[in-house]
Amino acid sequence: MVDRGDFLHALETDIKPAFGTSSEALELYITRGIINWGEPIRSVLEYGVILTQQARSGFGLVSVLVEGPPNSGKTALAAQLAKNSDFPFIKICSPDDMVGFSESAKCLQIRKFFDDAYRSELSCILVDNIERLLDYGAIGPRYSNVVLQALLVLLTKQPPKGRKLLVFCTTSRRQVLEEMEMLSTFTAVLRVPNISTCEQLIAVLEETDAFSKSQIAAIARKVANRRLFIGIKKLLGMIEMAKHFDEERRVFDFLTQLEVENFLELGA
Ligand code: ATP
Ligand code: MG
Repeated sequence: MVDRGDFLHALETDIKPAFGTSSEALELYITRGIINWGEPIRSVLEYGVILTQQARSGFGLVSVLVEGPPNSGKTALAAQLAKNSDFPFIKICSPDDMVGFSESAKCLQIRKFFDDAYRSELSCILVDNIERLLDYGAIGPRYSNVVLQALLVLLTKQPPKGRKLLVFCTTSRRQVLEEMEMLSTFTAVLRVPNISTCEQLIAVLEETDAFSKSQIAAIARKVANRRLFIGIKKLLGMIEMAKHFDEERRVFDFLTQLEVENFLELGA
């Protein structure tokens, strides 16, 4: 059983003070910028503006789930939307900062983020990687029901009168959240897909500096009409690696790497 003593203990030992997060802290989650590689990104950024306006002028709470496959860029996009909101109070609630926390300490920490936010007129909270916060394990499957209930309450509760709260959450487990009946609590769900067309790949290559124009044209010819499926985070990592390949073999090695890791369908 958890009693008051446990909470106080957790407060003293587990809970770090939550400092106001400036845009600098948000930058840490957008390490390689946001490349506008196609319609899905444009659409997420656009909806972000609309939802932020709704939070500014509207009914108190606006909560947004940013969901998509692993490595698709959910955290960076959610951080960008938070940054774009320009709200004076922005906090990031990340499971990385709660490693080793007990369930009750996690609940307290999450509560604290929201309590701090309620004190400011315009606040924005980014709850990153919800399934990890819930200790969700695909094998089992198990998760922390205590943390889930705490989050459900905070995601449905209206902030005090006159306060406006914009919450961005990220997950790569939309299905799981649906089963936990969490999905319906969000004001909106934004999908961040993987890169899946040759044009989208080229758009990314053009924004990075690993390949020359003619190399990019060669890649476009090779990739056209082949199945492609890769998250922006993975792709940027592979482009970074390609810079170390020999100039003459760079295109070939890059494409081979995409094939080997199954991101690109084998060529005929
Ligand atoms: P995970 O599934 O591990 O949580 P993720 O989907 O949250 O991964 P991020 O951690 O957001 O992915 O990584 C995306 C990286 O790609 C960041 O470094 C970001 O700066 C960069 N990036 C470039 N263009 C985009 C874009 N259009 N959308 C999102 N991220 C982008
Ligand atoms: Mg992430």
